Amino acid sequence: MNIHEYQAKEIFKEYGLPVAPFFVSTKATGIGKAAYELAPGPYVVKCQVHSGARGKAGGVALVQTPAEAEAFAAKWLGKRLVTRQSGPHGKPVNRILIERASNIARELYVSATIDRASAHLTIIASEAGGMSIEELAVNQPEKILKVAIDELTGPQAYQGRELAYKLGLQGKQVNQFAKIFLGICKMFVQKDLSLVEINPLVVTKEGDLLCCDAKINTDPYALYRHPEMAELDDPSQEDPRVARAVAAGFSYVPLEGNIGCMVNGAGLAMGTMDIIKNLGGAPANFLDVGGTATKERVMEAFKVILEDPNVKCIMVNIFGGIVRCDMIAEGIRGAVEQIKISVPVVVRLEGNQAQVGEKILNECGLNIVSARDLRQAATLAVQAAKAE
Ligand code: GDP
Ligand code: MN
Repeated sequence: MNIHEYQAKEIFKEYGLPVAPFFVSTKATGIGKAAYELAPGPYVVKCQVHSGARGKAGGVALVQTPAEAEAFAAKWLGKRLVTRQSGPHGKPVNRILIERASNIARELYVSATIDRASAHLTIIASEAGGMSIEELAVNQPEKILKVAIDELTGPQAYQGRELAYKLGLQGKQVNQFAKIFLGICKMFVQKDLSLVEINPLVVTKEGDLLCCDAKINTDPYALYRHPEMAELDDPSQEDPRVARAVAAGFSYVPLEGNIGCMVNGAGLAMGTMDIIKNLGGAPANFLDVGGTATKERVMEAFKVILEDPNVKCIMVNIFGGIVRCDMIAEGIRGAVEQIKISVPVVVRLEGNQAQVGEKILNECGLNIVSARDLRQAATLAVQAAKAE
């Protein structure tokens, strides 16, 4: 689960990480006055959305006066911010963070995550902060430093100091960095996080370290241990397609294509997306209906898929092991009839009672095409999506 920058900065404060004085507001009115009480200016004003790359999209600005801070808020509140990471529809801006601006001398990068290859909590750092770490990994991989944390001894201050020297830090900055290093590790473990990212970690012109940005992802499976973290959830930032799928208990990932996919089993769902791509089509989603594909579940899955206005055709791919394909066929027929699905539905049933299922679909007189095998189904789906 993702949380907002202002929430992450509150947690940073708890763990002794340095952040500039800030406040958040949901309304533009009054921001100028509150900003003036915080500092005479200049300020950094930032849209609070679950996305990075806000700066390049105009969602972060350096302003000189309280009035300009208020104007920035008035411009953005209630709008959607589209960034390189947000998806084409962007994320709603419901809050603005106003922070005392810092004089930046250098921008560093620091993050913590689990390195799955070494199975250790790992601190990643780079002197090339402010830019995307993904780009850096491709263009200048030698600039990325990594330190693995031993889970028996825990993080050691000397590891932090060593990393500080490699980042070119000097004097008091070395111990400041070691403190941040230890703080991040402690926070990561105690709060059951999956990511902490500070980009940029700034060296100010005065020579101090400061966390100018703050990103935290929590491990959703550990939220039951952290009710205080679960409260930080902001469903407004979620894709509406995902919200419905999560409520229904499906594994669902929205994608940019136009062929809606309903499949039982994650592996089969990935294979289905692969063959669609391979035949020149584009899947609109990943959706695993799971093992208990009843009529109600099939109906709900159709509703989830149709929540996406881009869907031009639906491809159903069910392998009946325990699940009976004739029951699935009844479910599909019922769903197409009741929800009045207008886009073509291509169905491939295989396994337990598949022939009976196919017969039900062929004789129902609805806009359902039943295919003999997976390749034929995908070919028909790609053609149907192109024809629409
Ligand atoms: P992101 O684009 O979503 O990652 O948002 P950031 O919080 O990282 O802000 C984008 C950029 O704004 C940073 O990389 C900095 O260059 C700049 N920025 C952020 N805070 C300050 C500040 O206090 N002073 C100055 N001068 N620039 C800042
Ligand atoms: Mn950033």
